[in-house]
Amino acid sequence: MKRRLWVIPALLCVLCMTACSAAGTASGVENGHDGRDSSSAGNAEEGVQDPAETDFFAMDTYMTFTAYGDRAREALTLAEEEIRRLESEWSVTDEDGEIWKINHSGGQPVTLSDETAQIVRFALDMAEETDGALEPTIYPVLTAWGFTTDENRIPGGEELRSLLENVGYEKVELNGNQITLPAGMELDLGAVGKGYAGDLTAELLEEKGITSALLDIGGNVQAVGSRPDGTDWRLGLRNPYGEGSIGVLSVSDCAVVTSGDYERYFIGEDGKEYGHIIDPETGYPVDNGLASVTIITEEGKKGDALSTSMFVKGLEQAQEYWRTHPDFDMILITEDGQIYLTEGVQDRFELSGSFGNMEVHVITAD
Ligand code: AMP
Ligand code: MG
Repeated sequence: MKRRLWVIPALLCVLCMTACSAAGTASGVENGHDGRDSSSAGNAEEGVQDPAETDFFAMDTYMTFTAYGDRAREALTLAEEEIRRLESEWSVTDEDGEIWKINHSGGQPVTLSDETAQIVRFALDMAEETDGALEPTIYPVLTAWGFTTDENRIPGGEELRSLLENVGYEKVELNGNQITLPAGMELDLGAVGKGYAGDLTAELLEEKGITSALLDIGGNVQAVGSRPDGTDWRLGLRNPYGEGSIGVLSVSDCAVVTSGDYERYFIGEDGKEYGHIIDPETGYPVDNGLASVTIITEEGKKGDALSTSMFVKGLEQAQEYWRTHPDFDMILITEDGQIYLTEGVQDRFELSGSFGNMEVHVITAD
C-alpha cells in the first residue's frame, strides 16, 4: 500500500477522529450500523436536543467540542476557557507559563502548581515505564529538525549526538512541587499535554452535569459518557495513508488517542520523509514500519503518552509492552497495509468499505 501521496492540509487532521454518528458526520451513514437510517443521522432522535458545539484553535491544533444537555452551551464555554488556561501554563513559548519558566531556570529549582507538577510527574513516570521511548526532554532535538519552527532541515550525526547529551528524563529532579532541570535541557509536554487537558476538561463537564459529550482535541477524542440515547459513540479511525477514515470504533466513556508521523512531517532534500516523532535513542525521526498507533483507554493522558511511545517502540516491542501492561487497548496500522489490534477492541472495530480487505491480526495476551 502506498504510504502518503500528498501533504494533508492541516484541517483534514482535525477530521481524523470526529466521524461519530451523533455529531452528524459521515461514519454512521457510511457504515449504516448505527441503528438508524442515513436520513436520521444527526440529531433527529425524538426527545434528543441538538448538541451545543464549539470549535477553536489551541495547543497548536483544532479542537471541536460537542455536548448535550440543558447546560451544554455554558459548560462548553468553560471547557474552552480551561483549555486556554492549560495551553498557557504548558506552552514552551508562553513566557507567563510554567514550562517556559522551567526551561529558562538555568538549572535553578522552580516551584510548580499542583496541576503542572502532576503532569510533569506523570510524563517522567511514563518515560521510565516505557524505557525512555517517551522522552519529555527531546525538545532540543525536535528544534534541530525544525519541527518547532517549521523551518525543517536534516541535522548531521555529530550535531544530534551532541544534542542527545542534553536529553534524558532521568536527569530531571522533581521533589513534591519543586523541579530542577539541568541548564541546557528543555522540557516539553507536547506528547502528553493534550491528553491530560482532555481529562481535566471532561471532569469539568461532568462537574457541570454533562453526561454526554465528545471532545475532539486535534483528532484525539475524549468521550464523556455515551450518546444521548445511551448507545456507544462511533468514531472514525483516521486513515494514515490519506484522507478519511479507515474504520469505525464504538466506545463510551474513554479516550481514543492516535499518533502517527502523517500528522506532521517534511520531505528532506534527499527525498525521504521525516516525521515529528523522534526515536530518543538515535535522535532521528521514527522509521519502523508503523503508520499509526491508536490507544483506547480510560484516561486521555495515558492514551497520549502511550500512543507516542508505542509508535516509537514499533510493532514488536509495542505488543511486548501491552502483554506486560494489558490495561489498555491499541490498534497498530503498518505502512504495508496491515492492522494489529488487541483482543479487547476486536468486536468494537469495523473496517470501512474500501479498506475491508486489509489484513487484520488480533493481539492476544499469550
Ligand atoms: P503525539 O502527537 O502525542 O504523538 O506527540 C508528538 C509530539 O511530541 C511531537 O510533535 C513532539 O513535540 C513531541 N515528541 C516527539 N518525539 C517524542 C518522544 N519520543 N517523546 C516525547 N515527546 C516526543
Ligand atoms: Mg501522545
